[in-house]
Amino acid sequence: MIPFLEFHSEFRRLETEIRAAIEEVLQAGWYILGKQLEAFESEFAKYLGVKHAIGVASGTDAIHLALAALGIGPGDAAIAPANTCVPTVTGIALSGAEIQLADIDPVTFTLDIDSVERAITPKTKAIVPVHLYGHPCDMDPLRAIADRHGLVIVEDAAQAHGARYRGRCCGALGDAVAFSFYPTKNLGAYGDAGAVTTDDDGVAERLRRLRNYGEDRRYHHSCRGVNSRLDEMQAAILRVKLRHLDEANQARRERAATYTQALAGTALTLPSEASWAWHNYHLYVVRTPARDALAAHLRQHEIGTLMHYPVPVHRQEVFLGLGYPEGAFPEAERACNEVLSLPLYPDLPVADIFRVAESAKLFYT
Ligand SMILES: *Cc1c(COP(=O)(O)O)cnc(C)c1O
Repeated sequence: MIPFLEFHSEFRRLETEIRAAIEEVLQAGWYILGKQLEAFESEFAKYLGVKHAIGVASGTDAIHLALAALGIGPGDAAIAPANTCVPTVTGIALSGAEIQLADIDPVTFTLDIDSVERAITPKTKAIVPVHLYGHPCDMDPLRAIADRHGLVIVEDAAQAHGARYRGRCCGALGDAVAFSFYPTKNLGAYGDAGAVTTDDDGVAERLRRLRNYGEDRRYHHSCRGVNSRLDEMQAAILRVKLRHLDEANQARRERAATYTQALAGTALTLPSEASWAWHNYHLYVVRTPARDALAAHLRQHEIGTLMHYPVPVHRQEVFLGLGYPEGAFPEAERACNEVLSLPLYPDLPVADIFRVAESAKLFYT
């Protein structure tokens, strides 16, 4: 069996460092808002080239609290792509803002700039681009639209650790940026965790309050916050993994390149990288109108695949009330019917890539 993803190889590779990091937390006997989190926040901010990183409990909370810290809430609206991981829009909903959707570019799977412009209404206050699969969204034209309409940008960089747009890291481009450290992400914890990054001192200060029940200073609460903190154990583990992020991303890119060579000449549409992009290959996503049959064929050959994502946001039961009919976002809907994610993680044996490619080729013969 070739699994879609497994964590054991990475753990064995990093075991000594991980165990030492956990031991340090146990010896310190301090579990919430301590030295490990402070160190991780400053190391992650430095890695990205941004002034502040604020640890929170998840990527969903990061989106919610980033919007809240920018003053966006009930009565406002935020635009997100129609094909994304649902927590992008869950985060918007938690902020109290209304969800507005836009279509995607069929090549990069990220926000289509014209569709964003058409979605803007007087209520719109924010754009939430998603660097889907680890391919950055085209940020310059998006920033131009945001400036023209007085909107803020909250990047959803949950899949984009280390990905770069015109040489700059995703996470240093928005007014505030949401990261998830869910275990499957390129920088993954051993549990739930997230962070918001920003260059704005005021936003950073509000986030530090919001994540800790609105506490200003001990015993004094100045706003209605939540409990959303990144704990010391996860912070210590993330510090180890951050040191290995670049080599892990490089390993993903090499494996993606091997897939692309091995699958060349098939009827599959393979992922690409725009001239301005440095893709971190969080996912290696192929597309074909025969997606469901191909997934079943690979399953028979004992190869695990996943779909990111088979149902667009506006066709989810919970979001039917947004009022977008089927066909509202044709490219997003077509992608949902055609995308298939092949096994990919930094320790994936190269021999497995060739076996996946051979099985995929058999499907077409
Ligand atoms: C994983 C993910 C999230 C949510 O992160 P959690 O930490 O699970 O809350 C949000 N957006 C995207 C694009 C994601 O991939």
